[in-house]
Amino acid sequence: MELKICHLFPDILNLYGDRGNVVCMRRRLGWRGIDVSVSEVSIGTALKASDYDLFFIGGGQDFEQEVLLEDLKGGKTAEIKAAIEDGKTFLAICGGYQMLGAYYKTWDGQQCDFTGALDLYTVGHKDRMIGNYMFTCEELGGQTVVGFENHSGKTYLGSGIRPIGRVLAGYGNNGEDGMEGARYKNVFCTYSHGCLLPKNPILADHILKTALTRKYGSAELAPLDDAVETAAHSYMERRLTAK
Ligand code: GLN
Repeated sequence: MELKICHLFPDILNLYGDRGNVVCMRRRLGWRGIDVSVSEVSIGTALKASDYDLFFIGGGQDFEQEVLLEDLKGGKTAEIKAAIEDGKTFLAICGGYQMLGAYYKTWDGQQCDFTGALDLYTVGHKDRMIGNYMFTCEELGGQTVVGFENHSGKTYLGSGIRPIGRVLAGYGNNGEDGMEGARYKNVFCTYSHGCLLPKNPILADHILKTALTRKYGSAELAPLDDAVETAAHSYMERRLTAK
């Protein structure tokens, strides 16, 4: 078995070490003897989405998100939309999550028209939503996911898009409706930056399994020794529960 990962805009959308999630996926596949390749595709390079199984998009500041707009129009938006409809797996974080929606209106009034691949939009507010946070994930059997968020954008989901989880502590999509992230077909979106997958190995394997199942029809992932990862998860879960 083999997974081909495409890391989109790695040099532009990489806040808080978001790329660590790509390292994590690569390792968790490699430890199980599953081949993996990672290709980086950024501004100026054509994207042929049918070449890949799993796409990763990290987060970015407002300025960096604006920088991408022209490049997206030059073919990447159409490729991303087609790949999503084709059931390819995506993990998109914060600014990358917002980029899959229709638009992001920054708090100072700049309108970024994004891909519109998912029926959702984002409106910036002066007060940022910052901090460690936690949500429950129904498709992980009610498991908690712990993470770190820092965004000014408030995201609102349209019909047909469900959240990835329900907020237990922190803000999530907008600090108003209790929803966190977005799910559509095999797309996973979240506001959780940095070491999302290392701290939440169950989510990491769920995403990898989704991509492998899409490619091979079924996939079983051999268990790994996640003692350290689980300890990190439990520590944050306790801290956030105590708040
Ligand atoms: N610039 C966007 C916002 O502030 C995304 C930020 C991010 O990726 N952390 O909402």
